[in-house]
Amino acid sequence: MSKAIVSSLYDSDVFRMACRQFDQAADAINLPDAIRDRTKYPRRCLAVSLPVKRRDGSVTVFEGYRVQHNLSTGPSKGGIRFHQDVTLGEVAALAMWMSWKTSLVGLPYGGAKGGVIVNPNDLSESELEHLSRRYMQEMVGFVGPQTDVPAPDVGTNEKIMGWMMDTYSNHVGHLAPAVVTGKPISLGGSQGRREATGAGVAYLVVKYLADLKIPVKKATVVIQGFGNVGSETAVALDRYGAKIVGISDYTGGIWNPKGIDIKKALTYVRYQKTLRDFDGGEAISNEALLEQKCTVLIPAALERVITDQNAPKLKCRLLAEAANGPTTNAADKIIEARGDIEIIPDVLCNSGGVIVSYFEWLQNLSSFYWSRDEVLEKLFAMLDKAKDAVDAQKAKFKFSRRLAALTLGIQRVADAKQSRGLFP
Ligand code: GLU
Repeated sequence: MSKAIVSSLYDSDVFRMACRQFDQAADAINLPDAIRDRTKYPRRCLAVSLPVKRRDGSVTVFEGYRVQHNLSTGPSKGGIRFHQDVTLGEVAALAMWMSWKTSLVGLPYGGAKGGVIVNPNDLSESELEHLSRRYMQEMVGFVGPQTDVPAPDVGTNEKIMGWMMDTYSNHVGHLAPAVVTGKPISLGGSQGRREATGAGVAYLVVKYLADLKIPVKKATVVIQGFGNVGSETAVALDRYGAKIVGISDYTGGIWNPKGIDIKKALTYVRYQKTLRDFDGGEAISNEALLEQKCTVLIPAALERVITDQNAPKLKCRLLAEAANGPTTNAADKIIEARGDIEIIPDVLCNSGGVIVSYFEWLQNLSSFYWSRDEVLEKLFAMLDKAKDAVDAQKAKFKFSRRLAALTLGIQRVADAKQSRGLFP
């Protein structure tokens, strides 16, 4: 039995959900007690107050976090989220998933995540720059190319990573591009990083469709979320020949059984910022969109959108988790009992982003840069390997695909901790 003595610091629905997933996986591989809680709980966290001078001269203090879940397998790695609903517990859960993800795909990293409670759309460009730089300034002693390497997540982007890299570099007194990934190409960003997560999701969707003997050109796709990941997934699947019949963002959804013109949607969003009033189909609510009939359903936004309420009503054949943690434990159970939906679990499905982040870090450390083709070729090779490993584990132990992926990721972290021993 676990004997952890832990406080309620991270307690929240989403942290409990990540812990429940861990417990199930740890039980499935009989993870010894002595290693269980060490592997499960975040190693450390930093909470910071970030004062930012506003346009009108007033000062607003924002709260930010960085949770480092595991550093036993390398520098911790994971994005920074700017969102009004960020909580410490959410960041801790996301950090935990990063650990299993980097471990599953064989990267020499641990797992971490950061977050700031802010709606970035409420800030001017210069307020956003001040907030980003202030966040990094507070993190200077906590992150670093060999300690913890942040990246973009929901609400952050290349520009923000560039500001953070500049702030860190000014502190250490030399250019240090390897401190963050997802930077602009001009600052040492990698070819292919911007589209990496979406390209990886689409690649795996095509592979799983082939396993199900469904021709891509006959597949219909619904994507919830039209940020970096959702939109790049749409572009890539559109290119593979699939028909995108539904897309959405926080303002609502668009449904068009004849297929949505993705290029037109991208142009619309570039100028209008959201999909609101986009005329490429009929308006539909986010909730209803998830329950539409389609071959592939891709949640590409936030956690816990597939719940026990809508899981019985899903009408897809493949659920590709481009978001982190989109399916609650209860929904997972329902989907497993239904038996008619294949899941590509988040830690596998969206791992393309962190894989190309790893390539970016390698290029920064060696000051030797690769072509886009090289990046994509290496990305797809790593995804193939991870997919094969997950499906072999699934077949060998008769696990669900999520359990297969999590047990592989968790086992590697636990093995590393076991081998390193416990410093007295
Ligand atoms: N935020 C992304 C994720 O959840 C990318 C992390 C990274 O590149 O470090 O996987």
